Amino acid sequence: MGGTFDPIHHGHLVAASEAAAHLGLDEVVFVPTGRPGFKQHQDVTPAEHRYLMSVVATASNPRFTVSRVDIDRPGLTYTVDTLRDLREQRPGADLYFISGADAIEQILTWKDAEKLWDMAHFVAVTRPGHRLSVDGLPVGGVTTLEVPALAISSTDCRRRARAGQPVWYLVPDGVVQYIAKHGLYRGLHDE
Ligand code: ATP
Ligand code: MG
Repeated sequence: MGGTFDPIHHGHLVAASEAAAHLGLDEVVFVPTGRPGFKQHQDVTPAEHRYLMSVVATASNPRFTVSRVDIDRPGLTYTVDTLRDLREQRPGADLYFISGADAIEQILTWKDAEKLWDMAHFVAVTRPGHRLSVDGLPVGGVTTLEVPALAISSTDCRRRARAGQPVWYLVPDGVVQYIAKHGLYRGLHDE
């Protein structure tokens, strides 16, 4: 499951857990992006914080792990590179790329889009306010999975942290404490 995870929240964790249960996955690898190509205009929290929050959030689940492949690769993050690195690390593994429907809709615009279909199965989890529009996607290329609607976004969590409002229960307890300890999101401009 790729994402900016700025910060990781319970929407991400429920989506991962539901995908793992429905598809019978052995492991869900959370892959925080390095420099996301599509978020270049925004202030993104340094990768090490996003990585550590992901580790804290997933530590108690034996099937959840966090990968550094994207944050350790220089340059912008492209999914084709992510999948190539993960395949090298897990030879023979059957890979599923789990993502929100909003992100999957952009897939045709991703670098080397035509190669992606052979590298992994694609799973689009629905999130509040988004419907998968499959125009132009290969038939059978994307599995849609409805997960309990969670109206949680990282954008809202950052806004709350900046405004001194609670993020308790939107993100795992350890992430609440990590944000406070490091004073994350305090100096953000309005998004
Ligand atoms: P931002 O508000 O900064 O865009 P985000 O909440 O969308 O952040 P990302 O890190 O961009 O979080 O998301 C990673 C992946 O998780 C994306 O594919 C996104 O669609 C999906 N996702 C995000 N929030 C939810 C949610 N509440 N339920 C299900 N999937 C989600
Ligand atoms: Mg997003």
